[in-house]
Amino acid sequence: MPELPEVETTVQGLRPVLEGRRLTRVEARRADLRRAFPPDLRQRLTGAVVTGLSRRAKYGLIDTDRGDTMVFHLGMSGRWRIDPESLGAHDHLILETDAGRTLALNDPRRFGSIDLVRTDALHVHAPFAAMGPEPLGKHFSGASLERALAGRSAPVKALLLDQRIVAGLGNIYVCEALHMAGIAPARAGGRISRFRLDRLATAIQEVLAAAIAAGGSTLRDYARPDGELGYFSKEWRVYGREGESCRCGAPIRRRADSGRSTFFCPRCQRA
Ligand SMILES: [Zn+2]
Repeated sequence: MPELPEVETTVQGLRPVLEGRRLTRVEARRADLRRAFPPDLRQRLTGAVVTGLSRRAKYGLIDTDRGDTMVFHLGMSGRWRIDPESLGAHDHLILETDAGRTLALNDPRRFGSIDLVRTDALHVHAPFAAMGPEPLGKHFSGASLERALAGRSAPVKALLLDQRIVAGLGNIYVCEALHMAGIAPARAGGRISRFRLDRLATAIQEVLAAAIAAGGSTLRDYARPDGELGYFSKEWRVYGREGESCRCGAPIRRRADSGRSTFFCPRCQRA
C-alpha cells in the first residue's frame, strides 16, 4: 500500500515527464476507480499545460495552466507507469504529452481516485479542508503536536493516524516513529512530555525522510523505458517483526486494534 514516501517519490518521478508539458491526450479507459472519474476530465485536461506537481498527505497534485489541479490517490495498489511498451488491463488512465511521453495509471484493485479541483479551492476540497500539518513541512514540530494532543485521552498511536492532527502518516511510520521516540503506543496523547513530543516530531521526520531517500534510489533503478513508479520496502525497527528481537534484546510485540496491528518494544517504549 503506497504511503506518503511512495507518493512523494511518485511525484518526484512524474515531475520531469510532466512539468511544463502540454497534455495532448487524456483517456480514461473505464468509468471509475474507487469512484467515477470526473465526467469532463478529458475536456478539461486535453491541451492544458502542467505548471507544477506537488504532494499533500498521500495525494499527488498536478496543476495546470487552466486553474485546474488533478488530484490523484494511489489507493491500495496504484502506480504510474512511464512510457509503457504496451497497455494492460489495469492501465485505467492514459496521459500523453507534447514531448511524446506516455503515462499510465495502473491500479489492479481500483481503490485509487482521480479528482479535478480548481487550484484556488484546493484548501477547501474535502480531504484537505480539515487536514493537519504536513509532517515534513515547517508547521509541524513538537510544539504543534503538543497543541494538537493537549487534553486528549486517546492512545497516541490512534491520534497520530488522525489526519486532522498530522497529515498522511500511515501505520508503518507511526509504529516506527513511536519506537524511535521511546513512547508506548497506548499512552494517552495528552500525557506525553514536551521533551518526548520533540523527539517524536523529529523521529517522524527522520523515518519519512529515510524512506523517501530509499525510494529515490529505487526510482533510479526504474528510470528506464517501461519503468514503473513503484513501492519499496525497508528494514523496519519494529513493524512486521513480532517475536523478533528489538535492538535492546527484548522481543517485539504486536497488538491488534481496530483492524490494524501495532508493533512495539515493551522495554524501549515506556514513556
Ligand atoms: Zn527495545
